[in-house]
Amino acid sequence: MQLRFLDALQLLRSALGFPFIITSGYRSPHHSLEVTKASPGTHALGCAADIGVYGERAYELVQAATSLGMTGIGVMQSGPVSGRYIHLDNAACRPHAPRPMIWSYA
Ligand SMILES: [Zn+2]
Repeated sequence: MQLRFLDALQLLRSALGFPFIITSGYRSPHHSLEVTKASPGTHALGCAADIGVYGERAYELVQAATSLGMTGIGVMQSGPVSGRYIHLDNAACRPHAPRPMIWSYA
């Protein structure tokens, strides 16, 4: 993991005051979700994490993330609560992945 990302994540956690359940952190480039990508994703670059969170805390997380250096926010807030999460990364802008960016899954 990139220290710059971990520092940003810790700042965010301290600011919000609730535990972060990391459902996905670093991924090997050989991970099944990474091998289909033309270039390494933010998880394989070590600058992303998915936080298991929903409802008011998900709202608070997105709100704080934009002011604490996160440049990529993916929102998965449908389906069973146990599968909901917010993806956060602080990747730089790349040709195929402009930043800042927010997106939703499915
Ligand atoms: Zn993610």
